[in-house]
Amino acid sequence: MRIAFIGLGHMGGPMAINLAKGGHDVVGFDLVQAATEPARAAGVTISGSAAEAVAGAEVVITMLPAGRHVISAYSGTPEAPGLLASAAPGTLFIDSSTIAVDDARQAHDLALAAGHRAMDAPVSGGTVGAEAGTLAFMVGGTDEDFAVAEPILAVMGGRIVHCGASGLGQAAKVCNNLILGITMIGVSEAFVLGEKLGLTNQALFDVASNASGQCWALTTNCPVPGPVSTSPANRDYQPGFAGALMAKDLGLAEQAITSTGVSAEIGLLAAEIYRRFADGAGAGLDFSGIIEDIRRTSDQ
Ligand code: NAD
Repeated sequence: MRIAFIGLGHMGGPMAINLAKGGHDVVGFDLVQAATEPARAAGVTISGSAAEAVAGAEVVITMLPAGRHVISAYSGTPEAPGLLASAAPGTLFIDSSTIAVDDARQAHDLALAAGHRAMDAPVSGGTVGAEAGTLAFMVGGTDEDFAVAEPILAVMGGRIVHCGASGLGQAAKVCNNLILGITMIGVSEAFVLGEKLGLTNQALFDVASNASGQCWALTTNCPVPGPVSTSPANRDYQPGFAGALMAKDLGLAEQAITSTGVSAEIGLLAAEIYRRFADGAGAGLDFSGIIEDIRRTSDQ
């Protein structure tokens, strides 16, 4: 298939490379030329403009930083035509960026109004998953479009879940990361409390990992060094999943909580706690480094 891939950064670069390795004819574009080099070296054709990249493509995949980038790339400017105006009618647009549910629905509506088809397909799995082709995709769109998209996404991912209509892929991502952010804070508070009470981290881990406190934040991404040797805590909190990305995703959760009026007090607090963490030293650390903030701000 002829696929245009727009946004060849940390995630988009390896995803485009996997599509090319999978036998697709991939034409990539990024505003920053340096970002295009690894993809070019691995068989992705690099085009000089977004419009050129999408000309003749059957599918357009975007992997951009935030909602405003997706909407402006779709819409273009008076000087430069956007992706929607440059693509052949009926092109399937798949946005894999992590953006607000409302922005995803707006992008979808813009694509449909321009005579195209559109889906949201955000991912989890980070750069490691992008390189290994093991990303989890959460997809929003029609059954018919999902049938076309699934084999393409399968080249870049392991698990692909059709979550429902447009916007619901982003909804699933935001809800999952809300659970993750809250549970990591909970696990971290419990370890610091255990330390204050005289418990060893290993003893608390041995109990909680086999009891009702069991969760991914504890048993895979354990915020203290020792109990899980592969967790970022064992390497000075090098990510992993960076605090800046958790702060971003919880900001999207906060937007969704506010726009729906859900009474999610802990979720809003978690968003605030991670915003503080990312504004301080935590932006480039794994999000489990939040435990250091909790320890530091606890009474001595
Ligand atoms: P990145 O900043 O490395 O890459 C984004 C790329 O988009 C950059 O190279 C930038 O130059 C390019 N870009 C911006 N506007 C453009 C435009 N109009 N046209 C063409 N290129 C444009 O970011 P990333 O880490 O690859 O993340 C991309 C998306 O994936 C984000 O929404 C992020 O939240 C999400 N995500 C990231 C991770 C991760 O671990 N990095 C994990 C899951 C989801």
